[in-house]
Amino acid sequence: MLAVKIVQEQGIEVQGVAFETPFFSADRALEACKEMGIPLVVVDITREHLVMLRAPRYGYGRNMNPCIDCHILMLKKAGEKMESENADFIFTGEVLGQRPMSQGKQSLHIVAKRSDYQEYIVRPLSAGLLPETRPEMEGKIDRRKLLDIQGRSRKRQIELADRYQLTGYAKPAGGCLLTDPGFAKRLRDLFAHDSCLEIRDIELLKVGRHLRLNDKTKIIIGRKEMENAVIEKLSQDRDIVIRVRNFPGPTVLVPYGCEKKDLQLAAGICVFYSDAPGDMKTLAECCKGSVVSHVDILPAEKEVVRRLII
Ligand code: SF4
Repeated sequence: MLAVKIVQEQGIEVQGVAFETPFFSADRALEACKEMGIPLVVVDITREHLVMLRAPRYGYGRNMNPCIDCHILMLKKAGEKMESENADFIFTGEVLGQRPMSQGKQSLHIVAKRSDYQEYIVRPLSAGLLPETRPEMEGKIDRRKLLDIQGRSRKRQIELADRYQLTGYAKPAGGCLLTDPGFAKRLRDLFAHDSCLEIRDIELLKVGRHLRLNDKTKIIIGRKEMENAVIEKLSQDRDIVIRVRNFPGPTVLVPYGCEKKDLQLAAGICVFYSDAPGDMKTLAECCKGSVVSHVDILPAEKEVVRRLII
């Protein structure tokens, strides 16, 4: 938002571009552009992002966040947008040194270079500390009016936000699931066991408890009614959906089905998490498409369940 204000102050027309994947949304960008009254284009980069995410050239941050490669992809897409819209340049809100992995001097250089639009990328908040870009040389934007902010402190940014009377600016952390340790663990597990992922497999990572029974089979267990509903909505005919008969309990999903012995364990886990008594067998209903079978089973043992949690 600050970068937009700084560029707009030079009388330059601005258009926002934001990106979406199952891991992050464009909601904050939408709010910001609304507050500033500028148009926004939202580009879904899920497919390319997933390919990159399996093997990011510059590695992951603390969790599963491949920030450098992610920035490269976004700037590449922004560059394509710049060309198709006949715009003069791209600018970002990046600040030199604000984030150790993705905004150090070397990282900013790599990101710009690998995006294929290096000459056209202006960082108005730190431009005074970075090499001159083509739009600056060509006088499309006045370098003397750009800033020289660097480091992790947000003091100057907060002062500027006050000056521009910006209220809806984003909090420093959060927003991307790839930086969440719990989510990262599940994603790592999914990558290690599934070679051809579908988008819904990623969506499923966002709900319930996940337990891995073996290399081929994992199950997802709803923790509350809302999660049960989401799991059911994401289920497909190839999956097995397990519910306890006669007692309140979770919906358990076995994506892409499983062998008979694993189904017994999955049903036992479903009973374990239900309100059924712990000392007697309970009937669990297992549905695969329109085929329904039943398993009469004791709840799985607590220690077994604990060991399987991802
Ligand atoms: S935090 Fe997430 S969205 Fe942001 S650059 Fe890193 S991977 Fe991309």
